[in-house]
Amino acid sequence: MTEARRRRIEEVLRRRQPDLTVLLENVHKPHNLSAILRSCDAVGVLEAHAVNPTGGVPTFNETSGGSHKWVYLRVHPDIQTAIGHLREQGFRIYATALREDAQDFREVDYTQSTAILLGAEKWGVSEEALALSHGAIKIPMLGMVQSLNVSVAAAVILFEAQRQRLKAGLYEHPRLNPELYQRVLEDWLRK
Ligand code: SAM
Repeated sequence: MTEARRRRIEEVLRRRQPDLTVLLENVHKPHNLSAILRSCDAVGVLEAHAVNPTGGVPTFNETSGGSHKWVYLRVHPDIQTAIGHLREQGFRIYATALREDAQDFREVDYTQSTAILLGAEKWGVSEEALALSHGAIKIPMLGMVQSLNVSVAAAVILFEAQRQRLKAGLYEHPRLNPELYQRVLEDWLRK
């Protein structure tokens, strides 16, 4: 490992945001999962979450640009377990949903601990997941087509979170506690 590579790894790790994440409910297409992880990496998500009913390990493809190496993905057996885990850690969960009563995604304060819940390509977020969330958010759609591709929706919302966090100075100092920082650093240096 060169000194430059080590420095780059440390710089990126210093910008990781342990209190910003996504929860993917049955998003199963490898290119969508990969594209979402790539956006997660770009905004500094440390760990993403997914519910995979088949229990299998999700598959990535070249769309990830290798980002799946740098964003941890925790797979939960079902949506109750996933949301319970995030709530225990103090996350507010915002379900993306194309509903009349969902609020505009730009109205949310993403400088707080936030998990963005995204739904399956065909069916969207389940009613159960919606009921367990703190609120529903949507990206206004003004065209003929009703919804965005899930990875595009994830990127739009994540980059609004990045904008708010940049403004709040949340990328200026390490956000991981020293013990976690050290653990992740050692893991990344092995990659
Ligand atoms: N028929 C599904 C529905 O009504 O939810 C469409 C699912 S959409 C193709 C897949 C996922 O992308 C959604 O579950 C949501 O997470 C996200 N999504 C797509 N368009 C969105 C929008 N305008 N606002 C918020 N999330 C959106």
